Amino acid sequence: MNPAIKAVPVPPSASASAAALAGPSFASLPLPPHVLQNLTRLGYAGMTPIQAAALPLTLAGKDLIAQAKTGSGKTAAFAITLLANLNPRRFAVQSLVLCPTRELAEQVTQEIRRLAAAEDNIKVLTLCGGSTMRPQLASLEHGAHIVVGTPGRLMDHLERGSLDLSALNTLVLDEADRMLDMGFFDDIATVVKQCPKPRQTLLFSATYPEGITKLSAAFMREPKEVKLTEAPKATQIRQRFFEVREEERLHVVGQLLNHYRPVSTLAFCNTKQQCRDLVDVLRGQGFVALELHGDLDQRDRDQVLVMFTQRSASVLVATDIAARGLDIEGLEAVINVDITPDPATHTHRIGRTGRVDAEGWAFSLASVDEMGRVGAIEKALGFTSTWQPLVELKPTGTGPLLPPMVTLQILGGRKEKIRAGDVLGALTKDLGFAAAQVGKISVNDFSTYVAVDRGIASEALRKLNAGKVKGKVVKVRLLEG
Ligand code: ADP
Ligand code: MG
Repeated sequence: MNPAIKAVPVPPSASASAAALAGPSFASLPLPPHVLQNLTRLGYAGMTPIQAAALPLTLAGKDLIAQAKTGSGKTAAFAITLLANLNPRRFAVQSLVLCPTRELAEQVTQEIRRLAAAEDNIKVLTLCGGSTMRPQLASLEHGAHIVVGTPGRLMDHLERGSLDLSALNTLVLDEADRMLDMGFFDDIATVVKQCPKPRQTLLFSATYPEGITKLSAAFMREPKEVKLTEAPKATQIRQRFFEVREEERLHVVGQLLNHYRPVSTLAFCNTKQQCRDLVDVLRGQGFVALELHGDLDQRDRDQVLVMFTQRSASVLVATDIAARGLDIEGLEAVINVDITPDPATHTHRIGRTGRVDAEGWAFSLASVDEMGRVGAIEKALGFTSTWQPLVELKPTGTGPLLPPMVTLQILGGRKEKIRAGDVLGALTKDLGFAAAQVGKISVNDFSTYVAVDRGIASEALRKLNAGKVKGKVVKVRLLEG
């Protein structure tokens, strides 16, 4: 036999990334021997960092907000906890896990089943939309210890009275940031309100947008927080400076976009007039560019931001004042169209890029007159700027840079009781689009905005206008950049 093969028993469950992170032993936790044996059997040699940080707190019964990147082993962190809280002899739903999508709910169910294998007869049930109700109702009648599901379908079961949560002791919100992105806040609230108050609540997320604070304030009790963020953000931002002549400055922005092809770019100008001119130039070159300025009323401002965060516009052009308080994550690039006289403003501008899992670009265009400002920034921030010649900016990729999504506006929102799940359902269940072709959904009082893949935009527009959302005929229009 080939000894090399025998020597490497890689269990299918242990992903390279999480296994490589394996740290302290699970044996340091208050877990019974059969649970530890099962972890060893699964090839979990040690805890991943998020498990090592979270489990001592959650096994002590604390509420927890945990932030760590994808693939860091968050599922096992909450699964081990909810299993520790579980009484297998009690046939009632004792834990509930909310997930954003059916696929994720199924993955979570599988991981819980693997971890529950140490115990006999623990029933884990997945309740998601897109499956028929009848088998779910039958399974619920047979009893389940743990339910994993998406907010919309769980709500349906709660409304019918087919899901009883009175014996629940552990509630998990998994991928909370994605659930918020998908517009599930209200649905989550409806489900959580039906959970008994004395319970342990665990919230897991890869990023930490503002809505998370809102969720935890509403539904958690003195939560502990563990955040395992990557190396400091500044090191993830790649800065490049370009020397430009005044008359070519605005044109260079388009060259940067066509060369680096970032999906989302925030471009800063020092003046409103410069913003206006840049948007005109970019649109003339075929880019989808939006302007954020102080003269917009709240509704237009919201609409611009929705389109940009839904990735339906490539560039958002703003002054520092207009961009104040913006909380946009996941920007691939920031462009300083003008150099700011204030080094702190420069830091603030470029800090908007750099994603959790990727590096961000910060491009700065400087004329000869602005070299003094660049010098002041270098001195204040302690770095030497890297200059790139403009001739290196050649178009890459195929065709013009277009945003991946298009935003459709449905005239009707919260006041009409439209929920994100209704829109997702209309597009997937009724109209036959794949969930992967639908992006972020944002429900406002009077309007609902849904991002769809650019390739299906006109078809989705036509079919939504001809069809129904929540049993009602709706008016839908396509938002142009
Ligand atoms: P996350 O939810 O943080 O994105 P997952 O919980 O899906 O990550 O875990 C990623 C992978 O790591 C899964 O295949 C899981 O089985 C594996 N894994 C989790 N914890 C460990 C561990 N302690 N040792 C080895 N593999 C692990
Ligand atoms: Mg996960």
